[in-house]
Amino acid sequence: MKKDVRKAIIAGNWKMNKTPSEAKALLEEIAPLVKDAGCEVVACVPYVDLATAIEATKGTNIKIGAENCHWAESGAFTGEISTGMLKEIGVEYVVLGHSERRQYFGETDETVNKRTKAALAAGLKPIVCVGELLWERECNITEEVVARQIKLDLWDVTEEELKNVTIAYEPVWAIGTGKTATAEQAEEVCAFIRECLKKLYNEAAAEAVTIQYGGSMNDKNADELLQKVNVDGGLIGGASLVAEKFAAIVAAATRN
Ligand code: PEP
Repeated sequence: MKKDVRKAIIAGNWKMNKTPSEAKALLEEIAPLVKDAGCEVVACVPYVDLATAIEATKGTNIKIGAENCHWAESGAFTGEISTGMLKEIGVEYVVLGHSERRQYFGETDETVNKRTKAALAAGLKPIVCVGELLWERECNITEEVVARQIKLDLWDVTEEELKNVTIAYEPVWAIGTGKTATAEQAEEVCAFIRECLKKLYNEAAAEAVTIQYGGSMNDKNADELLQKVNVDGGLIGGASLVAEKFAAIVAAATRN
């Protein structure tokens, strides 16, 4: 019950949307709307938008994140991007293990763990996504699924490193579907994730971790979700592409 010891983080996940010029325009629209935010504001954007996004947000309170990274420093990994490449241009956050990567690109808990370790070693702040499929929720194994993901994705992550990790609880059935988990469902699983972290680390370490909810969070439902004691922020897909909606979610996080 220690929401005040944690940093609220509202992060946009732009997915495969916006060209560099469109990214610049959107960030310039968002920046004045979120300048007084009482939470961390992050935009996670496609690789080719990163340099433009970093330039466009200089002097603002918006931090820039990537949507993935590889675990190797360099080498024969065609199409991949290393943590060093991201760091050098000023990227701070990186989304890892998003359900779309797990579903369409063969991401596993083992590769999420490797990417998480590499990101932390490079000084990036990973946003590690976990969450159950609809079928898994219907079979009543949400907790088993999430506990396994937390344990494996954070395998060998030290207590010190955990300070730079954000967890995003994203029920897969709620992502991009317009179906939001109820605030009670979100709170229940976010609280369970914190219990898992207590077992893996300790109470103080677990209480300090920012746990976001993601899955059709928008300007209408953000307040109710963010009021929950274990919901410390949001990972926002669709609504992060509309400046006013994203800013309204940031304002909700500031209020709560
Ligand atoms: C996401 O991409 O992480 C997400 C939660 O998407 P949406 O908000 O569109 O459901």
